[in-house]
Amino acid sequence: MNAKRLFLRVFGFFFPNVCFSCGRIIGEGKHLCDECEETLLNISAETACPFCGIEKPDCDCAYSVYYFKSAAACFYNEGSAKNLVYNYKLGRKDYYCGYLADFMSENIKTKFKDVKFDYIVSVPPTAKSLIKRGFDQTRLLAKCISKRIGVPLRSGVIGCRPFNPSQHESANYKERFKNVKGKYYVKKRINAENVLLVDDIKSTGATLDACARELLYSGAKRVYCVTFVAGGLKS
Ligand SMILES: [Zn+2]
Ligand SMILES: [Zn+2]
Repeated sequence: MNAKRLFLRVFGFFFPNVCFSCGRIIGEGKHLCDECEETLLNISAETACPFCGIEKPDCDCAYSVYYFKSAAACFYNEGSAKNLVYNYKLGRKDYYCGYLADFMSENIKTKFKDVKFDYIVSVPPTAKSLIKRGFDQTRLLAKCISKRIGVPLRSGVIGCRPFNPSQHESANYKERFKNVKGKYYVKKRINAENVLLVDDIKSTGATLDACARELLYSGAKRVYCVTFVAGGLKS
């Protein structure tokens, strides 16, 4: 056995490879155990609504008009996909970003294959969430996606005002749209035809919509959104 293989075997004994979702020990080179892989609920590119990005039976676009042109998500916010985002942002597993960005980049290439993006912008965090999590998980995702799809990341285009109550504590669909009013603002101009807005989760779409509005004010002609997961909150 050569030195490198011996090192990997010893390293693997002390730091075994674990499932990103449930923490169970798994084989080298994998990110999810078989069970968690089965609970990834894929949102099909063929049947997803082109506006809100979720599948038709769950879409309520008939009642909403969005500032963004189209949204796309990889998975439903349930099962292991939900765990992945939770572990990534609240468990401070910043090294998950490449794994999540791989799925998101593939999704962008499929769902927005005819769109030429000028810039990527990430949804800015509140000061409170940045302190709580210790890193800007959305910007990190956007950075990884930028490398994968070859579109530059623009920082500091939109800002976030201190905000109360926080979005996940507010109860329903209508309240969420009301709560984000005035939360985001334009910090600098962006001259672009198409901007890709990145976030980790889309629940009602209120946050993405508010940021898309500011991007339009800042000079973007069209805004497209991508998230890792979508859904999980009905009206
Ligand atoms: Zn697992
Ligand atoms: Zn829809």
